[in-house]
Amino acid sequence: MTTPSLYQRDAAAISKMSFLRFFPQAVVGGDGAYLIGDDGRRLLDLSASWGAAGLGHSHPSIRKAVNKALESQAGASLLSTANLPSVELAEKLLSIVPKRAAGRVWLGHSGSDANETVARAVIAATGRPRILAFNGAYHGGTSGSMAISGHPAQQGVAKAAGLTLIPYPNAYRDGGAEQAEAAAIDHLEKLFAGPVPPNEVAALFIEPIQSDGGMVVPPQNYFRKVEALCRQHGILLVCDEVKVGLGRSGRLHCFEHFGIEPDIIVFGKGLGGGLPISAAVGPTEIMNHSAAFSFQTVHGNPVCAAAALAVLETIERNDLAANAAEVGQHLTDGLERLKQKHRMIGDIRGRGLAIGVELVTDRMSKTPARHETALTVYRAFELGLVLYYVGVSSNILEFTPPLTLTKAEADSGVDMLDRALSDVAEGRV
Ligand code: PLP
Repeated sequence: MTTPSLYQRDAAAISKMSFLRFFPQAVVGGDGAYLIGDDGRRLLDLSASWGAAGLGHSHPSIRKAVNKALESQAGASLLSTANLPSVELAEKLLSIVPKRAAGRVWLGHSGSDANETVARAVIAATGRPRILAFNGAYHGGTSGSMAISGHPAQQGVAKAAGLTLIPYPNAYRDGGAEQAEAAAIDHLEKLFAGPVPPNEVAALFIEPIQSDGGMVVPPQNYFRKVEALCRQHGILLVCDEVKVGLGRSGRLHCFEHFGIEPDIIVFGKGLGGGLPISAAVGPTEIMNHSAAFSFQTVHGNPVCAAAALAVLETIERNDLAANAAEVGQHLTDGLERLKQKHRMIGDIRGRGLAIGVELVTDRMSKTPARHETALTVYRAFELGLVLYYVGVSSNILEFTPPLTLTKAEADSGVDMLDRALSDVAEGRV
């Protein structure tokens, strides 16, 4: 009898938690932008675990901070007592958000639990029963966060009673930035004038770039106009920075690109550098409301908080937002060159190291190349490149690499994608 591989043992022991076990490969380690397979293969990871490994894999600053916290606090469950790493982390987060959000920090384990807690708290604290979010939005995978999401992958999941989904303006698909912005604002104004009285709306949840919905970058002034409407009607603006925040977009916060100041900001993924921690930062009366209480045992876990603190310090010390801007531009330039050659590439968009490449069967009809996108991701993996795909039609290649990415690594990724696209187009997959 042959010994089962790690991948086979995974399949035999762990639930297929989702379709996301896409690659038939087990991983035994990581080294910066590379994953190391159980077969010794080094895979260039331009996904960075859906953006969570913002410092890359096995970063020394996280290792050091985690080891220190483990030795001193042993990962104690300290729900009922204060601990130094979580206090320092909260203080740090309060110091980096706009003043209007700098009240209190709620600490959780995932983007999902943070978003659902905020949704509960804003309704209870304002006494308004409604929430607005976007078609295509992904705010998480727990019941409460799915209930305020608009991604088609979650169709069939019960939505929150007071949820209204609105269109996210998409310049590529909605006739250009100007037209997309005007239509989306018009939609919102009509809602407020009719079926959704704005004084019943507690909050509007935004993703400053809609990542799982397709790395859609909003028209430049759209969120400024949305913010003005929210202020006019006393609606809280909640910004989900889980995937594109903390340096990834080339600015510390992605919302900075659009000149807005949210009331509540949600962090996850890259905050823990791969360890499970999230944070919602907002006004004291919201974050301290009893509806924000959630009695999860390992809230504010010192080991994860120490990791997050190390992440924030490393981003600041090494100016990784600037690196994301520079290497992100370099990577985008490389992808733009591929667009000259590969007719399947319909659009390239993003900010910093949050980039989407939309694949279409032809550029005129813009028909989503769904099948070809999955094939491209698979072929890229065979060639040594890890990417994922996102989008409401699953046809956007998503790049969320480590913020530490070098130009040489970006070039190597572009070369492998070039080959993968050729192999798919010419039927070699
Ligand atoms: N919000 C956004 C924008 C995300 O992209 C995700 C995950 O992909 C989440 C929230 C949920 O985060 P988590 O998977 O850590 O629960």
